[in-house]
Amino acid sequence: MVKTKTSPNYVYYNDSIRRKLWEEKDIESRMASALERREFVVYYQPKVDLRTGRIASSEALVRWKLSGGRVIPPDQFIPVFERKFMIGQLDQYVMEEVCRWLRGRLDAGESALPVSVNVSRLQFYDEGFVDRYVEIRDRFQIPPELLEIEFTESIVLDNAGLLLRTVNALKQAGFACSIDDFGKGYSSLSLLKDLPADTLKIDRFFFEDGTDEEREWAIIQGVVDLVHRFHIHTVAEGIETPEQVRRLREVGCDYVQGFVFYHPMTQEDYERELRRQEEAPAPSRCGKEQAP
Ligand code: C2E
Ligand code: MG
Ligand code: MG
Ligand code: MG
Repeated sequence: MVKTKTSPNYVYYNDSIRRKLWEEKDIESRMASALERREFVVYYQPKVDLRTGRIASSEALVRWKLSGGRVIPPDQFIPVFERKFMIGQLDQYVMEEVCRWLRGRLDAGESALPVSVNVSRLQFYDEGFVDRYVEIRDRFQIPPELLEIEFTESIVLDNAGLLLRTVNALKQAGFACSIDDFGKGYSSLSLLKDLPADTLKIDRFFFEDGTDEEREWAIIQGVVDLVHRFHIHTVAEGIETPEQVRRLREVGCDYVQGFVFYHPMTQEDYERELRRQEEAPAPSRCGKEQAP
C-alpha cells in the first residue's frame, strides 16, 4: 500500500479493511475442514448461585483451536459462519460435544450440572432445528433438565411470531430456555409477557460504568423484580467486581456469570473445579470472591 502524506487515515482504513477481508477469506476457506477435523473446542463458564456461592450450572462457549495452538474467540468466526449459512452445523457440533461430555460424566457416576448452549438466531428459520436438538439429546440420553438453550431476542425485529413458536416448541420438547444479552440492543419488555423463558440474562452492558450508576441499578432492580413475578430466573453477565456482586445480591439477582468468579475454561479445568466444589464443605470458595 502506498502511503500518502495527505491521507493517513485513508491508508489506515484501507489496511484494516484489507486485513479483515483477508481474515474472513481465510476463515471461510477453512471452516468446513475445521469442522471435519474437529478443531472447535467447548469452554465452560460457571454460573454461580448468589445464595449458596456455589456453581449451579455453566454456559458452553465455543473456541477455534488452530493446529498451531492459537485459540480464536467466537466473535471472530461466528459472523462468518452465519453469513455462509454454516452456523447450524457449528451450533450442533457444540450441542453434541456438550452432550458427549455430560454422557461421560453420567456414565462415570459423576455429578452433572446443567449446561446452556448458544444458538444463533438464524437457526430459528430452520424448520428442523428443534427436532435435531431433540435427536442429539436422545442419542446421548441426556436428561432434559441438564440442557438449556440460550438465544437473543433480536430475532423479534424480523419475526416475533416465529420466535414465540420456536421457543414454545423448545419448551414442549423439554428444553429450558434462556434469553441472552437482555438490555443490549432492542430488548422488549412486552415480549416477556408472552415468551415462556426460564432465565433472563442481563447483559454486561448494564454493568459497565455509565453516567448514572444509581439509575442503572434502579433499572436492574426493576427488571429482576418484574421477571421474578413471571418465575423467570435472572443471571447477571460479565460481572467483574465484588462490589457489583454485592449490589446484585441486594437487588435479588439469582446467578452471576463473570470474571469475578470464573473465566470460561477448558473442560478439564471445569471438571477440576467441580471436583473441588464437591470436596469443599458448603458454601464453597468461588474464584476471587468469598462466598456469603
Ligand atoms: P454470550 O453468549 O453473551 O457469552 C458471554 C460472553 O461474555 C463470553 O464471550 C464470555 O467469555 C464473556 N464474559 C463472561 N464474563 C465476562 C466478564 O466478566 N467480562 C467480560 N468482559 N466478558 C465476560 P465469548 O466466549 O467470547 O463469546 C462471545 C459470544 O459468542 C457469546 O456471547 C455468544 O453470543 C457467541 N457464542 C459463543 N459460543 C457460541 C456457540 O456455540 N454458538 C453460537 N451461535 N454463538 C456462540
Ligand atoms: Mg450466551
Ligand atoms: Mg450474553
Ligand atoms: Mg454501571
